Amino acid sequence: MTTELLVKDVRPLGGETTDVLVRDGRIAAMGSGLTPTTPDATVIEGANWLLFPGFVDAHTHMDKTLIGLGWHRHDAGPALLDKIEHERRLRRDEGIDPYQQSSRQARLAIAAGTTHIRTFVDIDTEWGLAGFEGVARMREDFKDALTVQIVAFPQSGMLVRSGTVELMDQALRDGADVVGGLDPSTIDRDPAKHLDTVFGLAEKHDVDVDIHLHEPGELGAFAVELIAERTKVLGWRGRVVISHAFCLGGVDDAELGRLIDLLLANDIAIMSHGPSGSRPAPPVMRLREAGVRLCAGNDGIRDAWGPLNMPDMLLRAFLIAYRNNLRRDDEIEHVLDIITHGGATVLGAAAHGLAPGCPADLVLLDAETHLAAVIERPTSRLVVKRGCIVARDGECLV
Ligand SMILES: [Zn+2]
Repeated sequence: MTTELLVKDVRPLGGETTDVLVRDGRIAAMGSGLTPTTPDATVIEGANWLLFPGFVDAHTHMDKTLIGLGWHRHDAGPALLDKIEHERRLRRDEGIDPYQQSSRQARLAIAAGTTHIRTFVDIDTEWGLAGFEGVARMREDFKDALTVQIVAFPQSGMLVRSGTVELMDQALRDGADVVGGLDPSTIDRDPAKHLDTVFGLAEKHDVDVDIHLHEPGELGAFAVELIAERTKVLGWRGRVVISHAFCLGGVDDAELGRLIDLLLANDIAIMSHGPSGSRPAPPVMRLREAGVRLCAGNDGIRDAWGPLNMPDMLLRAFLIAYRNNLRRDDEIEHVLDIITHGGATVLGAAAHGLAPGCPADLVLLDAETHLAAVIERPTSRLVVKRGCIVARDGECLV
């Protein structure tokens, strides 16, 4: 049976007011004065709201959010290893259920307009595959409302904890979509072997690569070189993301230019979440003007790492704009393109967009312009996934 949804009087990306007819989960037509072809079609009055493709959260950690567990007192030390240890202890002591927690984050993300998520899942010798299994169960529950990609991620180190590689291998066999890596010099203290192992798993399972790279300055630049070398040798062009990449904001201009050339030559994408001021940040506009693919993500939401995030990609857009000193309308339009089309290219959702034939993954917002949407972040939103309404006015309906 054909199902139809007609959205009347919306402004795609702030353009001219139009109607959008959705049939069987895809945009069938756009234009003025459209009428449904079936009597049982759902009709929505768009009231000149802005229309975007669904938001893409290309980097989060759904297995370990503390949403719904009461307020956690944050007292971990300042170093990366302090936070990793603190988190492992908390997970053990609190008995966090990754299925329940990732489901809670999924509902909030859907309500805020997110239609696609890439989530990292901790895999270590203490936690085993519990995080992966819980999040995979959530992915199945929400498959009609949210596209979820799972990254097998060695948060506590890979080579320093014997048995971790085998667990990652198992997760990839059992349905993890992407292989992750982490600070190859700092955590495992053997960057070549760390990256050879990650790319070896990528080749074995034919999956993309996404590496957390917090390492600063020249150390981080060295890791970018090593990642680019392996991307080239394996032929993984277009299939690698470097997440955070703080080093791109911590080297001089000539070195940045050299690193950008490496990223472009291998079509390596960069994920930025608009980090706090304690870290250098990748210069989003410089990278974009050079042609580097960019995506963005919320990173950890209300977890042991920090309490300040929420699963709303408009808040993420605000933070990226704030950190990069972006104030002009055209600059904010770039940021919203990063949280929609940019993320979609990374998740392999190439047809994500607002044109006939695209999957009907849509967000309607009660805002006048892109800039107003980012500043005001209205709760008046309507979210459509594959032609079905999945959230309205801040409430997830699935
Ligand atoms: Zn992360």
